[in-house]
Amino acid sequence: MELLEVSERSITVELDAERRTCEASWLRDHCRCEACWSPSGQRIFEVWREPEPVIEHAEVDGGDLVVRFGPTPHLSTFNPAELAARPQERPPARSLRQLTWHAWSAVALDDGALLSFLADVEAAGLGLVSEVPVVDGQVAVVAERFSPVLETNYGRTFDVQALPDPKNLASSDLGLALHTDNPYREPVPTLQLLHCLRASGEGGSSRFVDAMAVATQLQEDDPEAFELLSTTEVSFVFDDGFHRLEARAPLIELDARGEVRAIRHNARALRLQADDPASSNRWYSAYCTFARRLEADPGLLEVTLAPGDLVCFDNRRVLHGRTAFQNRTGEDRLLQGCYAAMDAVRSVLAAQR
Ligand SMILES: [Zn+2]
Repeated sequence: MELLEVSERSITVELDAERRTCEASWLRDHCRCEACWSPSGQRIFEVWREPEPVIEHAEVDGGDLVVRFGPTPHLSTFNPAELAARPQERPPARSLRQLTWHAWSAVALDDGALLSFLADVEAAGLGLVSEVPVVDGQVAVVAERFSPVLETNYGRTFDVQALPDPKNLASSDLGLALHTDNPYREPVPTLQLLHCLRASGEGGSSRFVDAMAVATQLQEDDPEAFELLSTTEVSFVFDDGFHRLEARAPLIELDARGEVRAIRHNARALRLQADDPASSNRWYSAYCTFARRLEADPGLLEVTLAPGDLVCFDNRRVLHGRTAFQNRTGEDRLLQGCYAAMDAVRSVLAAQR
């Protein structure tokens, strides 16, 4: 490490042939001495309790940067790794069509197989597990291999099957357009698992699409539609007489950098008042463009689940739907689902890196 410039406000060093400028407040806030930083890995120092720090002196000593601060006197030592650290980047997105199945016998017992399955969930937004025992409640056992189960008003697990008088269209034999589950919740469940206990006789295949990729493409091709869908809030509502859930958010949610963070798309639960900003023909035109692109996406994965198959997906990124099926006996297609946490997936993966 070489010292290039020092002022009261900042220090510029050369690190691995790269210039890096560190400002005084950041440096003072990142002191790792015993008084400022706990062995637990958390900060003790509270930067707002002192007057704004200035750099009084800096030098490189034994490969480390030593800084003397004022007006509140403090001496800090920084090693090159602390100054060079960068935020961890997400892995590059992978296509749903490249995914392969992971056998539950391996995922259940072998940490390498678990990581390989979770790496799919992180990179593609979806992971596939086969040969899961066809047992009631098993979907929660799979989730708890890596995440707590998120219980909702649908229970700890929920059944998706055709019922005579459905309270939710998921419990009919109709086809379901691609959608986000529970868009009327704040926050929306981040991870969903669906386990096939009985296959459908005819039809009823499952469809998945990477809606974040589709939205990012829309931003490039039709910036006006993207702008409308990412800046206009809409309401999503669920009301069965016992539970009334409502959340307001744009269909496409952006992060502070203007990149797509989450998708909320569910025609069954969308509610707009006549004077809603989204009730315009312009908004509807953008909405239809996006929905058509989702349904026709060339990266869409369509798969007919067999008993023992399980899908696990990022509910804010990958939308799911199904084709209509024939419910002849009432004993056809039965999926069992539960919600879990995407941050648990990332945590297990990050702990291995
Ligand atoms: Zn310190």
